[in-house]
Amino acid sequence: MTRAPSARRSAGFEDKDYRSYSFWLETVGEDLAPRPSLEGSTEADVAILGAGFTGLWTAYYLLRQEPSLRVVVLEAEISGFGASGRNGAWCTSGFPVTPGELQRRFGREATRELLVEMRGAVEEVGRAARAEEIDAQYFRGGQLRIARGPSQLPGIEEAYQSLRRLGLERDLRLLDADETAGRVRITDARGALFNPHCATIHPARLARGLARAVERLGGEIFERTPVTDYQEGDKNGSRPSLVTDSGEVRARTIVLAGEAYLARLRKLRRQILPIYSLIVLTEPLSEEQWAEIGWEGRECVASNRYTVDYRSRTEDGRILFGGRGAPYHYGSRVRDEYDIHEPTHRMLRSTARDWFPALEGARFTHAWGGPLATPRDWMPTMSYDPSKGVATARGYTGQGVATANLSGRTLADLILGRQTAITALPTVNHRSRPWEPEPLRWLGARYVQRGLMKVDDRAERAGKPPTGKTLAEWLGRH
Ligand SMILES: Cc1cc2nc3c(=O)[nH]c(=O)nc-3n(C[C@H](O)[C@H](O)[C@H](O)COP(=O)(O)OP(=O)(O)OC[C@H]3O[C@@H](n4cnc5c(N)ncnc54)[C@H](O)[C@@H]3O)c2cc1C
Repeated sequence: MTRAPSARRSAGFEDKDYRSYSFWLETVGEDLAPRPSLEGSTEADVAILGAGFTGLWTAYYLLRQEPSLRVVVLEAEISGFGASGRNGAWCTSGFPVTPGELQRRFGREATRELLVEMRGAVEEVGRAARAEEIDAQYFRGGQLRIARGPSQLPGIEEAYQSLRRLGLERDLRLLDADETAGRVRITDARGALFNPHCATIHPARLARGLARAVERLGGEIFERTPVTDYQEGDKNGSRPSLVTDSGEVRARTIVLAGEAYLARLRKLRRQILPIYSLIVLTEPLSEEQWAEIGWEGRECVASNRYTVDYRSRTEDGRILFGGRGAPYHYGSRVRDEYDIHEPTHRMLRSTARDWFPALEGARFTHAWGGPLATPRDWMPTMSYDPSKGVATARGYTGQGVATANLSGRTLADLILGRQTAITALPTVNHRSRPWEPEPLRWLGARYVQRGLMKVDDRAERAGKPPTGKTLAEWLGRH
C-alpha cells in the first residue's frame, strides 16, 4: 500500500485516515479513533505540546514520580502521529553526534556518561513496555554497522576505536566478511561492527500504549488540538501557556515536544531543520528467501555512508528499508504530502534489491516517511528554564527512539527540581545556534545533502574512504 499524497493533501481532520501514515499505524491493533479535543481554556501543573515519545515519556515519568500533578498533553493529530509512529523501529544507543566529536566538545567523562545512559535508555524502554504491558514487540537483537565495499571498512574500525577510547568496547565485536555473512548475507559486505545495545520495536504500539499508560496514571490527552503559539512565564507571576484556536492551557511549566513540527511555530522556526526520512517495506518473505538472507538474529542493520540508511526485520518477516536523501523543503516546511517522494522511494526499493538479491520479484507493499529534526550542531537538547517555566527536548536527528526516553526522564527530573545523574549530562540545557535565514538555509541544506551523496558514491566507486576534506563534508560538520 502506497499512499496517494494528493488525496491526503486536502484532507481535513474529518477524513484523515491515520492508518495510512505508516505500516506501524496500520498494524497497531486498534481503530485510532481520536480522543476529544480541547474545548475552552484550562489550567494544569504541566502542559505538554506533542504526544510522541518525548511528550508521552515526559508525562509518564512526571506522573510516576508525582501522581498528584495535573498533566495535560495537547496533540495536533493523534498520539503517535509523528516520527514516533512511523520510524525505522530501531531503539538504539546510537547518538546523533559521534563519540569522537562528543569527546572533542564535552570531554571524555561527560561523553562516557552520556553514552552509558543511552545504553540504559534502550533497556529502560523494554522494561517500561513490559511493566505497562505494552505489546511493543521489543526484541533485543543488537545492531550491525556494515562495511559495504572496501571504502567503508576504515569507518567501521574507527567507530570501534572511538568507543574503545572511552572504555565502552567490551561487548562490541568487529566481524570479518565471513562472520558478517554468518549473521546476514548482504552483497559486498566486507565486515561489520556488532553492538548489542539496540532493539527493534513496533513504534506505533509503543506510542499508543504509552498514551494509555499516561491516562491510567491520571494524565489527560487532547487530540486534534494544534498549538498555534506559546507564552513564556515571567518574574511578575504571569504563567506560561500553550495557545490553541479553542482556548489555552495555563500551567506552571509548559513542555515543547513537537520535534520536526516545532518548525511550524514562528518562535522556533530556525531552531531545527526538518529533514525527511523515507521507508519502503516488503511483503512477508518466504522461507526460501529467508534461508538465502539469513538474519535470524534480527539485528538492526545500517551501512557506513554519510547519507544515512537503515534496515530492520519485522516480527512478521518483512524487510524495512529506510534512508534519508529526500530534499529539504524551503522555509523548513513540514507537510503531509512530503512524506512520499517517489524518486527516493524508488531508489530505496532498488537499493534494497541490490543489498538482498533474494528480493528479486518480491513485492514492496508499503512506502511512507516523515520529518525528523536536525539542530545546527546535531546535538539534541533536554532543557528547562524555571524562570520562564519552559522545558523542551528535541533535535534527535533521526536517532530519537531511545533518546526520547532519556529526554522524558531528564525533563521530569528537571521540572521536579531533582538533581540526578542524568540532569548533569551534556544534553541538559544545551543550546545550538539557530539555522541560517532563508534562502541561505535552503542553499546550504540542499548543497550538503547532494554533496554528501556524491562523496558516498565516489568513495564506493574508488574503493577508498571519503577524505573528509570536501566542502560538503566540512559544511556538514560546521
Ligand atoms: C521515517 C523516520 C524513521 C526514523 N527511524 C528511526 C529509528 O529507526 N530509530 C530512531 O531512534 N529514530 C528514528 N527516527 C526518529 C525518531 O522517530 C524520532 O526522533 C522520535 O520519534 C521523536 O519523538 P518526538 O516525540 O520528539 O517527536 P514526534 O514523534 O515527531 O512527535 C511530535 C508530536 O507532536 C505533535 N505536534 C507537533 N507540533 C504540534 C503543535 N503545534 N501542537 C500540537 N501538537 C503538535 C505532532 O503531531 C507529533 O505527534 C525516525 C524518524 C523518521 C521520520
